[in-house]
Amino acid sequence: MVSNTDERQAGPVRWPYLLLAVAIFVLAAAVLAALMQVPELLPQLAAPSPTPLPPTATPTITPTPTPAVVLPTIHDLGAQVDDAAGTVTFHLEAQVPPGRQIAEVILWYDTEAGHQLQRTTDPLSDTVTLSYRLEAAKEGLTTTLTGGELDYWWLVRDSAGETVRAGDTAPLGPTLETTLVTPTPEPPPVDFTWTVSESRHFQFHYAPGSAAERDRFEIGALAESALARTTTVLDVEFEGRMQIYLVPRVFWQGGAAYGEKVQLISYLDRNYTDIETWSYFTHEGTHALAQDLIQPKENGGGPDGVLVEGLAVWASDGHYRQEPIDEWVAVLASSEEYIPLAELRAGPFYDFQHEISYLEGGSFVKFLVERYGLDTLKALYGQATGEAEHDEALVQSLYGQSYAELEAAWLAQLAQLSPTPEQAETLDLVVRSFDLMRHYETELDPDARILPSKAPPEWLSDTLKVFLHRADDPPNVVLETALIAAQERLDSGDLEGTRSLLDDVEAALDDGGALDRPSLQARHEILELLAVQDRAILRADTDAYRETLDHDYVHPVADDDLLQMPFTAFEQEVVRLDIAADGLGAHGMVLVHARLASLSSLADQPYEQDGELFALTFTKRDGQWRLSDRQPLDPTLPTPPALED
Ligand SMILES: [Zn+2]
Repeated sequence: MVSNTDERQAGPVRWPYLLLAVAIFVLAAAVLAALMQVPELLPQLAAPSPTPLPPTATPTITPTPTPAVVLPTIHDLGAQVDDAAGTVTFHLEAQVPPGRQIAEVILWYDTEAGHQLQRTTDPLSDTVTLSYRLEAAKEGLTTTLTGGELDYWWLVRDSAGETVRAGDTAPLGPTLETTLVTPTPEPPPVDFTWTVSESRHFQFHYAPGSAAERDRFEIGALAESALARTTTVLDVEFEGRMQIYLVPRVFWQGGAAYGEKVQLISYLDRNYTDIETWSYFTHEGTHALAQDLIQPKENGGGPDGVLVEGLAVWASDGHYRQEPIDEWVAVLASSEEYIPLAELRAGPFYDFQHEISYLEGGSFVKFLVERYGLDTLKALYGQATGEAEHDEALVQSLYGQSYAELEAAWLAQLAQLSPTPEQAETLDLVVRSFDLMRHYETELDPDARILPSKAPPEWLSDTLKVFLHRADDPPNVVLETALIAAQERLDSGDLEGTRSLLDDVEAALDDGGALDRPSLQARHEILELLAVQDRAILRADTDAYRETLDHDYVHPVADDDLLQMPFTAFEQEVVRLDIAADGLGAHGMVLVHARLASLSSLADQPYEQDGELFALTFTKRDGQWRLSDRQPLDPTLPTPPALED
């Protein structure tokens, strides 16, 4: 794989120019022959000076019927590893089409020093032979790869601006492997600034390059429609502007409201709560609007958790999406899971089982509003202090009965409902899946259990670092995509499928994150396949790339272009993945993270698909997963449920 005689043709070849070019080739061969003796230039990558053509020189090589090139061609590349000396010598032989010169040659290899790019832009001839020797002792050897391999690529640009890129991997020897170090971690973002965009009632703050920036227009429209819905439900006016911080990681369930109508919301493609975004806006938006309902009091205080969270769940028509709140609470009311209202009110509210306490609050508030009207509820909300005796007297004065009597009437009404067995089982799975999700956070994503007491404008760099970073080790991605798939199955009514996937996640968490269950193993294998594909794309290794594709994969022409982009980083982050019941097929979604080298002939060119989503399909044949389809995907945001009337 690394020998100097590893001949390979890289770069598209255009046949129609064959005849024209044969004649030119004969002339060019003379120049080529003269340049065959270009010395290796070590250790600096430098341009060879063309040797003047001796006046008596005659072509001595017979041109083989090689097709003409209109793009530069890399004839040969390789890397010689001298393990004892601690060196890796990369070399390249390339040629550009007749009438052009080599304008630039770039070498990239996967170490911190190699990421800086070795390049030469000295005017060159139409052929080039270059070498670069990496001396580990001098420049260090850092790599994120664990297999003892070093990926690299060469790029040749000609004077017409055409480029060709090709690369390979060099297996390091045992001595070099012992000098490998992991790259220095990125320092905390000390000079981080939020990117801001606005809609009529919102100012959105998000991290540059995040999914929130990509989807900012859809998010703005969604937030406005969620607000319009919530102000209608609560019968309030709002003419100010709320501050929304959209963070690219999950924390707790993914939403929090601070004072002054500042809200913190998880917005990322791999949101493993799988809560619908509109529901964050209606829920946290209700908290923000309800701040204006609270009336000034002598001794302070405010409504208890039942009223605060109950109002938000009721106004959102569900806790995480549209949900049959009353039917679910009817199921709870006749079970041992039911938390009596007095207990729930006495609190601490946030220590009870999360979904059950929120749903009970939602159903109780719904009962109060539907039976006694919104104005009375607002009066209760505005005057409550959270102090038991005061609030009991307040309820008595507003409703003419005690909290206990209201609870009895509410339960009597719920007893009239006939929840279906599917609704009961769905509720059970909702509670179980979110308990498991929080268990996952505690065990494998502990940063997700951090909820700062201060709003984002006051965050210090340590907090910022936590909220701008996602856990991305394979067990994280495997279990997070499994949690998302479980929610999707639940949402589609596949209760059996949900249960079996939750069993797998639970087994993994009980075993410290071990991915032993087949559905988790399959996910892990697909992650590894994509890691192999990412490396192949990054180093422009067409053969290695093709090996990741299923034979049914319809090879789009765009793939050739993809491998020719001068990538300095390429990663497909798996954000969704579900495995078919037979274990032989899978579909998923990836988020592309990619950066390009800037070529001196071009302005800095950000990679256009950076931050974009793709839908992928995988097929397993002969025990091996391969990619069988890849399509660009536009993110879709579910909209809030329409109001009746
Ligand atoms: Zn809340």
